[in-house]
Amino acid sequence: MKAIWVTELGGPEVLQLEDLPVPEPQPDEILVRIEAIGVNPVDTYIRAGYQGYDPKVPYTPGFDAAGVVEKTGASVLGIHAGERVYLSGSVTGTYAEYALCKENQIHPLPDHVSFAEGAGIYVAYVTAYRGLIQRAEARPAQTLLVHGASGAVGIATLQIARNLGMRVLATAGTEAGRQLVKSQRADQVMDHADPGHFDQILDATDGLGVDVIMEMMAHVNLDNDLRILAPQGKVVIVGNRDSIEINPRDAMACDAAILGMSLMNIRPEEEKEIHAAIGAGLCSRVLKPVIRCEMPLERAAEAHRLVMEPGACGKIILKP
Ligand code: NAP
Repeated sequence: MKAIWVTELGGPEVLQLEDLPVPEPQPDEILVRIEAIGVNPVDTYIRAGYQGYDPKVPYTPGFDAAGVVEKTGASVLGIHAGERVYLSGSVTGTYAEYALCKENQIHPLPDHVSFAEGAGIYVAYVTAYRGLIQRAEARPAQTLLVHGASGAVGIATLQIARNLGMRVLATAGTEAGRQLVKSQRADQVMDHADPGHFDQILDATDGLGVDVIMEMMAHVNLDNDLRILAPQGKVVIVGNRDSIEINPRDAMACDAAILGMSLMNIRPEEEKEIHAAIGAGLCSRVLKPVIRCEMPLERAAEAHRLVMEPGACGKIILKP
């Protein structure tokens, strides 16, 4: 099978296309034929060995994908060959024509959801639900700022929040991103590249501040975020790529909560709840991943460059 095979950590050029044997499932494993693969910023951090990531090489990257069950191990009962599924990680890596998975990494993909959309579910929607619902405990009628709404997690957050009945303020750094965010029914859209956008957000709340911030670039914004929070407001740190200085007094002034989150920390019972909620949202068509572009697997290096550049507009998909 075709697969990306990383033999040393480094720049995008270490993503090499190889011909590898199709893996055989163990009794508790499922072999999935992959139709679409989702590209995430974390794939680039791992490939480069950033942020404390130290993967064992050689390896095949990737967490997100969708496809069809090809074969199941002898002790797998509830999953059958031919079923359409999306993956939440895998045993062997998703940048490939086939991947081995455990049962808890396989989730049904409704017929009306395309494989490309299915490859945009796991990291984006589980992160969005975890941050907004399980960490911030967001409620209907609260005001949310999605700080960085044009990317995959931002769009997922927007869709979940609108369905919950929140008022959503959202930012993007390009005109195309802002148009996309508007089309996703954000109530008001600002430009996070404009330093005046923090004042615009305060104005949009009549000076009261926002109840929840889902923050995609904490190392750029956290200090100012603390100044636009409503009393007892919460900032969820979803994305962060460096350090930043804050004045803790800003947090004191509004009884703020700064909440970290990592997908890696979700407990199995919490993840089960999240996939159940996502499954319901997919079936009712309230949740629908937005695809920015599709490219062949051999262009994985280009996809890794693109996902780290400004100008996000949804999910980048690789096709094996
Ligand atoms: P993505 O699709 O590449 O989107 C990145 C988003 O960040 C875009 O909306 C981008 O907007 C926005 N952004 C850029 N500069 C910004 C700024 N100064 N202020 C606010 N937003 C800004 O990535 P993603 O998949 O949505 O992930 C978003 C972030 O969360 C990434 O850093 C990722 O590593 C992280 N993440 C963390 C977890 C976790 O477990 N904690 C899980 C998933 C993702 P423009 O391009 O329009 O400027």
